[in-house]
Amino acid sequence: MKAVQYRTVGGAPEVVDVPVPVPGPGQVLLAMTAAGVCHSDFVVMGRTAAELRFPLPLTLGHEGAGIVAQTGAGVTGVTEGEAVAVYGAWGCGRCGPCAQGRENYCPHAALRGIFSPGLGAPGAMAEYMLIDDARHLLPLGGLDPVRAVSLTDAGLTPYHMIKALLPGLLPGATVAVIGVGGLGHVAIQLLRALTACRIIALDVSAEKRELGVEVGAHAVFRSDASAVDAVRERTGGLGVRAVFDFAGTPASVALAGAVAAIDADICLVGIGGGSLPVGFGRLPLGVRVHVPYWGSRAELAEVLELGRSGAVEVRVETFALTEAPKAYERLHRGGVRGRAVLIPDA
Ligand code: NAD
Ligand code: ZN
Ligand code: ZN
Repeated sequence: MKAVQYRTVGGAPEVVDVPVPVPGPGQVLLAMTAAGVCHSDFVVMGRTAAELRFPLPLTLGHEGAGIVAQTGAGVTGVTEGEAVAVYGAWGCGRCGPCAQGRENYCPHAALRGIFSPGLGAPGAMAEYMLIDDARHLLPLGGLDPVRAVSLTDAGLTPYHMIKALLPGLLPGATVAVIGVGGLGHVAIQLLRALTACRIIALDVSAEKRELGVEVGAHAVFRSDASAVDAVRERTGGLGVRAVFDFAGTPASVALAGAVAAIDADICLVGIGGGSLPVGFGRLPLGVRVHVPYWGSRAELAEVLELGRSGAVEVRVETFALTEAPKAYERLHRGGVRGRAVLIPDA
């Protein structure tokens, strides 16, 4: 089968032929219908050999949807032919957080060498994908896999944080979304669907600011040296109740800290090497800083419901699986509007 692999440290993703995996006891084999391209893959491909905690080659892709093709011995709960989405944050499955479906915060996964697909285990950018346990599969329930696949990360990750902050996101509060890319453009829609907040979107790119308006931002500003004043002015000098930073660079993180109001929540979601000095007097009084990771299985079910209701629509640019290197290049250049999605059988 065809698979998109990261094969050598510092190399580019390659399309290769590999054997179709065979599901062992408890495992499920999916015939893939869609795989999303996330900016985090550049973080993985930017690591040194010493920093990589798993051997190469790695089949990429941590946003996946497929059809159950074959089940291993003892598998219950899924049926062959069923269309599913993959919950990608794989934990030990047995500890307290995992029992709650919060496998994204399993404290044992890293210690035991349990990796998420595409982030250590073989991922979704292939014609077939091996799933370690049926609990990682949620029914697509009529959703189009190509349009829904990125709800598993680009939807789930912002949802996880927005849901946690909902009690403070009162009608009329202003929030900032920094970075209107794959995650950011879904975050704006989630905020519109779940709150009556005023949304300010900031991006370095004019096209992304345009997308911000299209998906529901009330105001957009260029993310540069003028941004802090622009946001402060828009909020009567107060700053914003919550900031969601989907870039995470030194510049965006500094902006996030500078536009926060007293008693605000700052969510550093992007993995761009930025850090925010935290300490008394460094940030407005009462500020909380979050560094969230992905989301829970229950939250994925909720995000899929939002997809079904039409409240959230991922903007998708499609590529054939074999065009993955081109999709990665486009994402790297900032050229993808919304999310790039690979289609194995295109
Ligand atoms: P993307 O490339 O689709 O979007 C990033 C956006 O940020 C782009 O629109 C870009 O123009 C914009 N941007 C860059 N620098 C900026 C700045 N200084 N100010 C404002 N905007 C700026 O990426 P994505 O796939 O949406 O991922 C976003 C980030 O989130 C990545 O760093 C990714 O690694 C990270 N991520 C984190 C988690 C998590 O669980 N914490 C999960 C998924 C992705
Ligand atoms: Zn991701
Ligand atoms: Zn666990």
